[in-house]
Amino acid sequence: MENEFCTCQGVRETDLVQTKESIEHIEQHLANITSRKPGNSRDSEITRLTVELKRQAVENDEQALAKTLWCYQAVHRCQNKYIHSFYDMKEGYYYGAWCALEHIENTLDALEQHFELDVDGKDSYKLLQIRKNTEQFQRLFPYKLFNSIGAVIHEMKCSICERPISLRNPCGHRAGEIYSGEMCSKVITKADLLEVSLVERPAQKYTVPFIVDKNTGKTIDHYNYAYIQYAVDNLQHPFSQWDLKVRRRKRLVSDFSHVGRNDYCPCGSTRKFKKCCIRKKYLMRNHFDIGIPVKPGEDMPAVLDNGVVRGKPRFPFENVENGK
Ligand SMILES: [Zn+2]
Ligand SMILES: [Zn+2]
Repeated sequence: MENEFCTCQGVRETDLVQTKESIEHIEQHLANITSRKPGNSRDSEITRLTVELKRQAVENDEQALAKTLWCYQAVHRCQNKYIHSFYDMKEGYYYGAWCALEHIENTLDALEQHFELDVDGKDSYKLLQIRKNTEQFQRLFPYKLFNSIGAVIHEMKCSICERPISLRNPCGHRAGEIYSGEMCSKVITKADLLEVSLVERPAQKYTVPFIVDKNTGKTIDHYNYAYIQYAVDNLQHPFSQWDLKVRRRKRLVSDFSHVGRNDYCPCGSTRKFKKCCIRKKYLMRNHFDIGIPVKPGEDMPAVLDNGVVRGKPRFPFENVENGK
């Protein structure tokens, strides 16, 4: 950004050289994505460097640079979340992976407003592949219905200037825009809860309903993750190439005699079996063609499963049981 003041007391030439080098350093790290292991020591180093550079850029009122660094932070977060979610799925921590995938989807949507995801047309940071794989994994998850919260919003404030805002009283900052290296959002500060309902297309996909055991109070993950498990078991690396085709296939209803009358209908409608296809002869059902190459690509490093340090399953509930 242009500076209308004298620059002699501002950025020194040596600082500029250092900044340029540091940014190249970050870019190199982001481009090395396919050889990075989860939780490698360089990640936190790069995170700290980006935060520090952004702080300096804001201090010098270099808005364009601050915005670029915000973009790099988002890229880095997406990449790391994606790699982690891949190994979480491999180890059966499905709900945690699901939440990470949703975070990636939202971050990429926001990032796309400010940044060319395909980076020089070569997908250097693998963001297009992350987006494709994220969507494919999401389709293989068994979650069909979500909790959705209906509310009346009374008060909102701007995350940048903290001023209370309303439709008639905007503050001038635009939601989704980057100001001094931070994205503007409208924060709800006061709302009345109207209802919680079950919906198929929620605003937030992490609101997956789980069953609670009446006797023990424990949350039980009752979902069947067979498709996801099949896919990740056969993928060697988070960036192995694979394809997913979903086709509708005709099946005999009598093939589903094991499905309870009150369970979801196997056709995937999210209605109860007894209220949907139970009396028909055939039903139409999604069939997943998971296309996985026999060998990983030559540019892929060796299998990374070994040596991945894992903590506890990252479920939102302390006492959840893993439905693997
Ligand atoms: Zn504002
Ligand atoms: Zn049905």
